[in-house]
Amino acid sequence: MSNICPRCKGNGFFKVKESVSNQVDQVVQCPLCNSKGEVNDKEYDEYYDSHPQLKSLQRKHDGFN
Ligand SMILES: [Zn+2]
Repeated sequence: MSNICPRCKGNGFFKVKESVSNQVDQVVQCPLCNSKGEVNDKEYDEYYDSHPQLKSLQRKHDGFN
């Protein structure tokens, strides 16, 4: 089972500022899902384990399959 990548929201990429002093948007390939836009359950859980402030946003697909 796969989950929408929480880091890139399923896009496979996301934008970051180049640096604090150079606020230019840079498009980077998502390293969490390797640009696939989906992650497996283990990667999904690990992402939220390492970002506890996002825990309230965690939604799994339980019950949809
Ligand atoms: Zn991703």
